[in-house]
Amino acid sequence: MRRKLVVGNWKMHGSHKANAELLDGIIAERPFSAEVAVCVPFPYLSETAVALTNHDIAWGAQDCSAHAQGAYTGEVSAAMLAEFGCRYVIVGHSERRAYHGENDQLVADKAQAALDQHLVPVVCVGETLAEREAGQTDAVVKRQLSAVIHTLKACIWQVVVAYEPVWAIGTGRTATPEQAQAVHALLRTQLHAATTKSDEMKLLYGGSVKADNAHALFAQADIDGGLVGGASLKAAEFAAICRAAG
Ligand code: PEP
Repeated sequence: MRRKLVVGNWKMHGSHKANAELLDGIIAERPFSAEVAVCVPFPYLSETAVALTNHDIAWGAQDCSAHAQGAYTGEVSAAMLAEFGCRYVIVGHSERRAYHGENDQLVADKAQAALDQHLVPVVCVGETLAEREAGQTDAVVKRQLSAVIHTLKACIWQVVVAYEPVWAIGTGRTATPEQAQAVHALLRTQLHAATTKSDEMKLLYGGSVKADNAHALFAQADIDGGLVGGASLKAAEFAAICRAAG
């Protein structure tokens, strides 16, 4: 049986003071049966590592460069993240695809760069509202995942996949458990064709996950936890979501 995973995505939120309060609050809510992680802005990795060491909560970043090193001003390499003790790095979040022009191949290359440094990439896929309404959901998520499968080849089983319908992110509009499960099942089938370990892989749902909808989502057969944005900024709410995961 797959252990559930809940990953908080702080996005571009935080301050030294707010982070300390949030992390203290989450630590106070332990223990969790599910695996729990927070992905924080780069400048806060150090203090997050100090706060979470020995507390059975992992941490990570929200992006990494596809390059190992070099003249890439403003970029942060996976090796740098590894030095800060990161376990996870989100790649291909829809906000990066939309606002930073990240395409499927770049996302796949970032996933490879993360694996090269023994980080676990949390690879985000998901359709826009227009794509869903045009009946393109399956084709879009399969195309996005296919680029990663093609690049990572036999290593694909080492990634976590997050299905995040763009229309559900930060909107308060959640996919129904059945809608989410249908896409997760599709992704699991696609992974099954690529690796013998697809049943071990974690597929997370993201998009307005809250304490009051998490349980129904996480009860679905192919939903192995959540990638949580807004609700990960409130310790009690985030902890309730973690508990809903088991
Ligand atoms: C996210 O940032 O990945 C996300 C799912 O955000 P929210 O939970 O706020 O919709």
